[in-house]
Amino acid sequence: MTAKIISGREVAEQILTTDLKNKVIALNENNIKPKLVVVLVGDVKASASYVAQKEKFAVKAGIESEVRRFKKDVTEDEILTVIDNINNDKSIHGVIVQLPLPDHISVAKVLNRIHPSKDVDGFTPTNVGKLFLGEDTLVSCTPKGIMQMLASTGTNLTGKNVTVVGRSNIVGKPVAILCLQQHATVTMCHSRTKDLNAKLADADIIIVAVGIPKFIHGDQIPEGSIVIDVGIHNIDGKLCGDVDFDSASIKASSITPVPGGVGPMTVCALIENTIIAAERIG
Ligand code: NDP
Repeated sequence: MTAKIISGREVAEQILTTDLKNKVIALNENNIKPKLVVVLVGDVKASASYVAQKEKFAVKAGIESEVRRFKKDVTEDEILTVIDNINNDKSIHGVIVQLPLPDHISVAKVLNRIHPSKDVDGFTPTNVGKLFLGEDTLVSCTPKGIMQMLASTGTNLTGKNVTVVGRSNIVGKPVAILCLQQHATVTMCHSRTKDLNAKLADADIIIVAVGIPKFIHGDQIPEGSIVIDVGIHNIDGKLCGDVDFDSASIKASSITPVPGGVGPMTVCALIENTIIAAERIG
């Protein structure tokens, strides 16, 4: 079997230039101009390229975006004041703080300061709690993008076995909750899981977010499964994921590539969340 490629790049382009663009046009007609602010501290090279992609996608959907840059020695109090000002600025609908932050700034403190209605990364305790309870909320971007990619394959998750490898707060846990909400049977794996291969053996869908290059190989995945690879690594100038694409794509029925898979969908979800926030805030 040769797997179908689930192109996050194509799915994102479609969502951005149709659904989202139309929503922005409708908002503009009511004098609402969705605006995203990205707070960027220091000069981490990877952060700069992520931010550039966010700006590019914002343009595609027709929303405004602004990057507020700060030197790496900015104080925690200064960043908290920046967040307070953004919370109170009616022209801004969404804010994200690009991670990582320098060690002297508490990530939890900064993220918790963002007003939940503008928390377009979906990281605040309020929005995470609402997601857990199945309430309407701003869903964090990578899990949201993964669900949209699965939807693009026409897969109905009801009764499907989903194995999630990785239990981070930003990917593994929320994507497991979203799959549960769609009536999948979810198995969560992590670094202490015994016999990972057994947990993968009966999976219909495998979602991998471990942060280890080419961690999952074709011989670990069942024939015909759908494989979503969240990882992204730069090995000697070449990008790869947490899944060994060459061996996995012989076994899977569909698979996401790296690059061009989960990455663009994450950014697309961020733009969508900003538009949702603008629709709610007005
Ligand atoms: P974290 O480092 O926060 O979490 C990694 C998870 O993998 C942990 O739960 C850990 O278990 C688990 N793990 C580690 N080793 C093993 C092992 N040997 N067997 C099973 N599980 C293991 O990572 P993130 O979720 O933040 O990110 C994962 C990857 O996805 C990274 O490559 C990251 O760069 C990428 N990423 C990509 C995004 C995109 O938009 N494309 C967005 C976010 C992340 P334990 O909890 O026990 O330590």
